[in-house]
Order: sequence, then C-alpha cells, then structure tokens
Amino acid sequence: MIYLDHAATTPVRSEVLDAMMPFFSLNYGNPSSLHHKGQEASQALEDARQSIAKDLNCYPDEIVFTSGGTESDNLAIRGYAFANQRNGKHIITSCVEHHAVLNTCRQLQQHHGFEVTYLPVDSTGMVSPDDFQGAIKPETILASIMYANNEVGTIEPIRELARIAHDHDVGFHTDAVQVLGLIDLNLRELGVDMLSLSAHKCYGPKGVGVLFVKRGVLLMEIHAGGGQESTRRSGTENVPGIVGMATAIHLAFSGYRKNLHRLEKLRDRLIEYILEEVPGAQLTGHPAQRLPNSASFTFPNIPGPDELILLLDLNGIAASSGSACHAKSIEPSHVLTAMGVSLERSSGSLRLSLGYENTEEEIKQVLHILPEVVMELQGLSGGFHATNSKAKNPYLESGK
Ligand code: PLP
Repeated sequence: MIYLDHAATTPVRSEVLDAMMPFFSLNYGNPSSLHHKGQEASQALEDARQSIAKDLNCYPDEIVFTSGGTESDNLAIRGYAFANQRNGKHIITSCVEHHAVLNTCRQLQQHHGFEVTYLPVDSTGMVSPDDFQGAIKPETILASIMYANNEVGTIEPIRELARIAHDHDVGFHTDAVQVLGLIDLNLRELGVDMLSLSAHKCYGPKGVGVLFVKRGVLLMEIHAGGGQESTRRSGTENVPGIVGMATAIHLAFSGYRKNLHRLEKLRDRLIEYILEEVPGAQLTGHPAQRLPNSASFTFPNIPGPDELILLLDLNGIAASSGSACHAKSIEPSHVLTAMGVSLERSSGSLRLSLGYENTEEEIKQVLHILPEVVMELQGLSGGFHATNSKAKNPYLESGK
C-alpha cells in the first residue's frame, strides 16, 4: 500500500512510541496526585510543555493540552466568545474552515445569539485581507481563519490577517492543524492570539493536541471539571499522548528543513505529471502558496469521489477525495464549492498528501497507476498506455 493520505493522519514514529511507552504501565501516575508517582507524571507533563513551547517559540504557560484539533478549535472559539461577549457578539471566519470551526461558529449563532460572517475565498481558496478588514465591525470580538486548508493545501496570509485584527482590537485564532512540521511555526513572530495543533498530523498519537493561548487572552472553560491546565481545560491529562506529542513536534522541527525540500520535489512531480497526463485534470488550491506535501486535483466525468478512492485503493494507493471527516458525506465539499468548483467537477476530486516516509519509487508507481485508474473511470482507459506516458515524462524516462 502506498500511503498518500498524510493530511488525514500520519503513522506514529518509533521514537514517539518509545517515548510514550513507560507512561502507560510504569509511570502511570495522575499528574494531579501529590505522591511520588503523580509528581513523576506531572514532571513529564511540564517537560513536554517546556519542550513544545521552546519549539514553537512561546511561553510554557501559553500551552494548553487538549484532546486534539477539534477540541482546540472548540475551546478557542467558544471559550473566547463566552469570556469576551460583553465587548460584542460578532465573529469572523471563512467558508473553507474545518467543520470543527464552522460548526462551533454555527452553534454560537444558532444557540447563543452571536453573529458570524463567513468570508468568501477566491478560486485558489485564498481569503482576501481586504475582505477581512471590510468585515470588521465595532462588535467584532474574534476572527478564526485557518493557516492552511486541509482539502486543497492553500496557505492563508495569517500574519497579515492577525495584524489587521489587532489594529481593530479583534482577537485572532488560527487552526494550524495541517501545517505542523510543514511550515516554520514561530508563534512570537506570527502574532496570533490562539493557535490549534493536533499530534496525529505530525507523526504523533491520535487524541491529543495543543491550544496555544497568548498570555493575557481570556478564555472560559468549555467543560467544567477539576480545573486542570490552569483552569482552561479540565480533565486528567493524557500523559503518554502528551509526551509522544512533544517528541513528535520536536522531531518535526529538527528535521523540518531537510525534509521539506524532498517533499516539495515529490509533490511537484506529482502535480506536473498528473496535469500533463490525465485528460481534463485541474489543480485545486493555490499553485504556489500551498503546503509542501499537498497535491489536489479535480478530474471531469468521474461518477463520484468514492469510486476514485476505492479504485485507487484496489490498486494499492491510499488517497482521499478531500477531508477524511467528509469522506462518508454525500454533500459536495464545502471547500471546493466556496472556490467556485462545479458540482460535476467536485465529484472527481482527489487529494494526495505526502509524508516523510514516501519514496521516489512509490511516487513513480503512483504516476503509472493513477492516470490509468482515472481514465478507466472516465471510460477512456483504452486511450492510455503506461509505455506512452513513460516516453513523454522526463522523470520516468530518467528512471529517477
Ligand atoms: N482542523 C483541521 C484543519 C484538520 O485537518 C483537522 C483534522 O482533520 C482538525 C481540525 C481536527 O483535528 P483532530 O482530528 O485532532 O480532532
């Protein structure tokens, strides 16, 4: 199986697993317990917090451990909205956010009297800073715009949007779940008030994440309990998960530059070849401002996105039509719809997301298999021969 669905999740690295193991059965204490076992766990938690803060360039007390990206987004938006509603009840977000953000905003709208502006995007999935500035009103308290889109990989102008928000005294949150290990994250320089991360997108375990909350930002707890995480997130901390996440983040940051170049090269090969070889293929997302591991397309005349994914699976390739959470939905992707992609086109959407363990040989195999699979679905397979495409493609020709 060639795994090209790293935007959905990544394998846990062996170093991460090794770091986690003692905290399941040996150092299993509750970090809130006063005895030795508890204090051991508490120390591991604080070491993890220090390590993550150092990697992200923020203070350790700005790191709140959560159960993942979904909870981080909920805590950021709901927690900020409830704590700051006396200053206004208007929130700005975009049409292409993950459902963790969109549905949190919808609930605030439907059940708590907030007004929400959903900013449009252009055909590449980009939010316009001018639109953002134009949407700010005296009642606006918070904006939440994702760092990079999970379906098409477009990277939003977060630094600029955060600056505009602050010029107007508006809090700024970004969902950075997709960028961990793929973009240089320096929280001091980025200038956001809150930022969500999830360990399983960067070779860490599932069910654990971070919400960065800048010093001085007020949040209301979203589930009541024992007051852990300095009363910002109650519940016994997932110590093995957090230790694993700190290791995964550290590995992602230390190997970042070396791997980035390789990933970009593989991604560009995929994009160039698929656009050249598959009739009617179009790239979705921004051509340049995109995640280094993300190649996403639409193909015409495909009966439905599931057919493409299932046929690729039968041919040994794990890919996605967009987001994993959306895979079982019959609705067209809200991201592609917001970008103006037609219903017919979005039925043939494909996201290939690379990871560090992918090899050149695997990509070469994908370049052989994928055009044939697409054309089979398009009813055109007779017109495609792998040998023809080999002759045309310099990558395959050179045997790289
Ligand atoms: N935000 C984005 C952009 C994502 O891609 C995802 C997961 O796919 C999430 C949030 C949710 O993260 P988690 O799976 O850790 O809850």
